Amino acid sequence: MKRNTGQDRSVTSKWRPATQAVRGGTMRSEFGETSEALFLTSGYAYDCAGDAAARFAGDQAGMTYSRLQNPTVEMLEHRIALMEGAEACRATASGMAAMTAALLCQLEAGDHVVAGRALFGSCRWLTDTLLPKFGITTTIVDARDAQQFADATTDKTKVYFFETPANPTMDIVDLRAVCDIARARGVTTVVDNAFATPALQRPMEFGADVVAYSATKMMDGQGRVLAGAVCGTEDFITNTLLPFTRNTGPTLSAFNAWVVLKGLETLDLRIRRQSENALQVGRFLEPRVPRLNHPGLPSHPQHNLAMAQMDMTGPIFSFEVEGRIQAHALLDALDLIDISNNIGDSRSLMTHNASTTHASVSEEKRLEMGITEGTLRLNVGLEDPIDLIADLDQALSRAGL
Ligand SMILES: *Cc1c(COP(=O)(O)O)cnc(C)c1O
Repeated sequence: MKRNTGQDRSVTSKWRPATQAVRGGTMRSEFGETSEALFLTSGYAYDCAGDAAARFAGDQAGMTYSRLQNPTVEMLEHRIALMEGAEACRATASGMAAMTAALLCQLEAGDHVVAGRALFGSCRWLTDTLLPKFGITTTIVDARDAQQFADATTDKTKVYFFETPANPTMDIVDLRAVCDIARARGVTTVVDNAFATPALQRPMEFGADVVAYSATKMMDGQGRVLAGAVCGTEDFITNTLLPFTRNTGPTLSAFNAWVVLKGLETLDLRIRRQSENALQVGRFLEPRVPRLNHPGLPSHPQHNLAMAQMDMTGPIFSFEVEGRIQAHALLDALDLIDISNNIGDSRSLMTHNASTTHASVSEEKRLEMGITEGTLRLNVGLEDPIDLIADLDQALSRAGL
């Protein structure tokens, strides 16, 4: 198989992320197919016993078993690494598989993690429930204030873990400031970049060590498959992540990798249009609700920081109504926008986090995370924003808001 026929890596690695999203990592078989091939195979055959032995000894390049390598999955991994500007990437079966592997592969009993307060619900389960079971302690900080990472650091601290923009409060973390603090203390930063994707924000440009993804969200972008990815240095991926993932098996299926490869081809288009739509819808909603958290609007307390580290602010924002009764009434009055806990889809979706994504989190912890009974999160899709605004307008009126 040949990669980007006629091109060498010194050329392809210079392409900008939007080009990488369409072309990066492509390998062509002897048939010269234009669209990436789907290799549905669990194993590989060898020309002779000596080849099998050499491949297992690491003396011969080539694949041995799809828990370890697969051509379609490898194309996706190369593509994401090139978009991210990372030395290496490994795909995983879901975003949570990526987060779990990125943390557990480098932590051991006695270690300490500092994590941002506003995290995806299952990420908070990792920091608050899973890690402590293995003797790894966590301190939760308000990640909007970079100094809190420094203050929480001890000589046991190995990892800073946070997402920006954060789910669903839309807190922004100052990537440069937190990564500088981490570097100075020998701490590894793990950034969950699912909301922005490398199309809008590349945390490694600000000094992040490891960038992890739910590719289920904007990368697939059409609500079809679960997938995840972890990006880092060649050394981190080969010597720290791979021993963990190869032996525990959170492997991405070739089919799902192929779907995400197709999704990435349109990522730049989709995320830019959805970001524009989210600004229009946000501007309409802002005067109609008590509070709106949209990092692309000047009312967001960290608007300038968001604009400095992101190309655009993405499809997702949240807002507040009075309480759960009003939030549910608004959801039930929607005609076009779906009630769904998913995000990153080309369809507009709205969710009441306190009763769905964060229902397993205690009310006290939800409030600490910035999620109230009246918080609603909106993923703005690719529909005409005029139709979305009309739907919200009629729903607000019908719900008496
Ligand atoms: C969805 C999501 C995850 C988990 O990803 P899955 O693909 O659902 O496992 C992690 N972090 C963030 C920010 C997410 O939005």
